[in-house]
Amino acid sequence: SGMRENLSYEQFGVAVRELAQTIADDGYQPDVVLSIARGGVFVAGGLAYALDCKNIHLVNVEFYTGVGTTLEMPVMLAPVPNAIDFTDKKVLIADDVADTGKTLKLVRDFCLDAVAEVRSAVIYEKTQSLVKCEYVWRRTDEWINFPWSVLPPVTPSGEAPAFNKEAL
Ligand code: 5GP
Repeated sequence: SGMRENLSYEQFGVAVRELAQTIADDGYQPDVVLSIARGGVFVAGGLAYALDCKNIHLVNVEFYTGVGTTLEMPVMLAPVPNAIDFTDKKVLIADDVADTGKTLKLVRDFCLDAVAEVRSAVIYEKTQSLVKCEYVWRRTDEWINFPWSVLPPVTPSGEAPAFNKEAL
């Protein structure tokens, strides 16, 4: 496989503070951070604390089935948040990476009708992304190993570990 961009938990801590600083310097004060599960949950938690925003929502989107292998289109999984909750709110969508950008586009389009304003923040944005995020920490075109998904799930001690394709 090709080159990888490796992010550690320690680097993530720096990244999320720097990303929040960029957002604060830009004068954007979101009423709600909308995280895209699962990777965006880490980013949303860090940003919400750093931006002193007490309201976090979550949407589950399924797209990737492996390294670089996707479903045809991303889909929102139930329970889909009630768009009424975002009426007249300034929303900050948080995700780990905009790769094709299809996931972010799906969630942004879902918000667009209802909200006062929607902006997006990601740790990484790739060149091909069809959504250009307002706030980006780093740009790369490599596959990124995030600290929360680089290891296989834990198994009860004594059982054989699950085979992890991503570690190859
Ligand atoms: P997109 O819809 O922008 O192609 O992909 C969005 C989601 O796919 C991300 O939130 C992430 O979960 C997954 N993804 C896309 N590219 C990468 C990558 O380089 N590394 C990892 N670990 N996940 C990725």
